[in-house]
Amino acid sequence: MSLTSLNSQQCEAVLHTEGPLLLLAGAGSGKTKVVTHRVAHLVGARGVEPEQILAVTFTNKAAREMQERIAGLVGRSKAERIQVSTFHSLCCRILRTDIETLGYKSNFSIYGTSDQQRLIKDLINNIDPASGIPADAVLWKISDAKNRLLPPEKFGSFMAGDLVGAMARAVYPEYQKSLKSYNAIDFDDLIMLVVRLFTEFPAVEARYQERFRYIMVDEYQDTNLAQFTLMRRLAGKWGNFCVVGDDDQSIYGWRGADPGNILDFEKHFPGAHVIKLEQNYRSTAHILKAANTVIRHNNKRKEKALWTAGVAGEKLGVVRCIDAEDEARAVIERIRHNVGRKRMAYRDHAILLRTNAQTLVFEQELRFAEVPYVLIGGQQFFDRKEVKDAIAYLRFIVNPYDEVNLLRILNYPRRGIGRTTADLLIRASIAGREPLWQVIRKARLLEGVNAKAADAVGGFVALIEERRRGFRAGGRLAATAMELFATIGLEAELRREPDSRERIERRIENVQEIVNALATYEGRVGQPTLSGFLEKVALLDRDEPGSESKEKKLAQDAVVLMSLHSSKGLEFPHVFMPGFEEGFLPHRKSVSDVFDVDEERRLCYVGITRAREKLTLLHADARMKYGKAEPRETSRFLAEIPEEVRREEARAGFQLVEGDEQASLSDLFARLMGE
Ligand code: ATP
Ligand code: MG
Repeated sequence: MSLTSLNSQQCEAVLHTEGPLLLLAGAGSGKTKVVTHRVAHLVGARGVEPEQILAVTFTNKAAREMQERIAGLVGRSKAERIQVSTFHSLCCRILRTDIETLGYKSNFSIYGTSDQQRLIKDLINNIDPASGIPADAVLWKISDAKNRLLPPEKFGSFMAGDLVGAMARAVYPEYQKSLKSYNAIDFDDLIMLVVRLFTEFPAVEARYQERFRYIMVDEYQDTNLAQFTLMRRLAGKWGNFCVVGDDDQSIYGWRGADPGNILDFEKHFPGAHVIKLEQNYRSTAHILKAANTVIRHNNKRKEKALWTAGVAGEKLGVVRCIDAEDEARAVIERIRHNVGRKRMAYRDHAILLRTNAQTLVFEQELRFAEVPYVLIGGQQFFDRKEVKDAIAYLRFIVNPYDEVNLLRILNYPRRGIGRTTADLLIRASIAGREPLWQVIRKARLLEGVNAKAADAVGGFVALIEERRRGFRAGGRLAATAMELFATIGLEAELRREPDSRERIERRIENVQEIVNALATYEGRVGQPTLSGFLEKVALLDRDEPGSESKEKKLAQDAVVLMSLHSSKGLEFPHVFMPGFEEGFLPHRKSVSDVFDVDEERRLCYVGITRAREKLTLLHADARMKYGKAEPRETSRFLAEIPEEVRREEARAGFQLVEGDEQASLSDLFARLMGE
């Protein structure tokens, strides 16, 4: 590998392989590039075994991209032996191997938000059915505690004495107990349990410390206490710990991220070498100037002098629109213009949104205009009810202790196991301290279960046990799942639902998509197992589309529609930031204690710095709220962008001249055909 594509500071960072190293630098200065080149240098020039390297980042997408770039430098076979992963997938791997030490079984389930909410709702009801405290408020507190590595016994002193806090304090120990008896862990446990494992079992920790001689973390500014502790422990033996990040891009304070981790790195790791990068290679001078001036309004930050040798480029466009539809059309018109006239690709465009609610209008208008797009985020595929129901079968088949999913499917599709029978079974399980599934298997012997119900329960048991054997026999995952869904009559149940035919058809297709996803997984993995598939599903980025939409398969070239949060680390030639208004950016919640305006400004900085050539900011005079038009004000951040780098653009005025549209369509067609 040659180092000629790097500047001298970048080279220094690549060559400084031993000891702690901090690379603190602004957006687009090549931090991620340094990480990939450093890995390549270790493997290529220093003869380090690929297995001894660990590179961690925040999203699966970023991890995949990193692995691709490394493969480009050292070849695929070596790249695949390097552990490049997210915090969660790293911890999942560790736990699959070592969780039995903590008394769980290695086929544990990973609970996502909806499973957690179900469980917490039940626990709140047990404690005080009249409390009216929402499960997600309690869940939020528990998750916050876990991010701070606080187990139930230490939670009390941490909690403020409000009602939600008091409820969370009562629920948390019960919640952990239930999870354990269901052989399940939640997303935050993934990290907290590994830290516990390392703390309580030094020999296990030593094994992982020994293995990972070189550790790198990208986007380090967004680590929370749990992630920080995990990495610090892992790096404990060799101390070759390289972190890269930008305090100005810390946007997960609301999930417990602590910028102190990066700002105090030299305190945490005495003798750390610090390198700064100051040249931006991504954006035009106008875009960079806008970003630099906006972020300077934040107080607590390390001043950076980010400069570019690139051209001034086009000024930022500021577009005043009438309403949300008008705004979406203004964006689409520009995209079509660029594709038709400037020969840009659809994928050169990204639309970055602050809230989920903004997505709908964009989706509608993009579809109407027949512009291909991919949505990252929004309602995830695996969050849909019919998908969760179908997956619940698979999850229960893998883990017979998983009671949240067992209860989800016990009488769905309806099979004559009514509420009374279910309650009876649950009570017997609690009274006898026996897992629910054991009780269900001998339901016939229970007092109070009538013959009809007993038959229904017996049928369910037989079905599950047969399928469990089927999946265990290995191979044929997709086919076995398809048979299962047919046997339980999922499609017929969906057809009985009172909904439009179109929506019902879509739900049925979604269930079919699970089978397709299984087939894809089987085709790609050496030794496919049902639990391996479920793990992949559980670890999908919260902002990653779970299943590729048909449009995406057809059109690899598509406009990207995503949240500002998930755009971190990425870059696009033309970026649109709609909703440049008070209430969106900064978000109206930023006045409360969870979000703060400085964090919103950093989010704005992240958005601006995604753009390479052109940035368009849009705002509307009014938006509909509860059926009424509500006037809107432009974002305070707009006034912070110097006037000389921006200019007002007409809403329209990018009208396509005749013939353009055709050109763009045939262009797209050519690209689809693999021109
Ligand atoms: P972010 O803060 O947004 O994550 P980053 O600091 O990680 O940004 P990279 O994504 O690594 O920056 O690099 C930004 C762009 O600059 C990429 O297109 C990269 O290829 C390019 N780049 C980085 N360093 C150089 C260099 N020395 N010469 C030319 N291009 C470079
Ligand atoms: Mg980066």
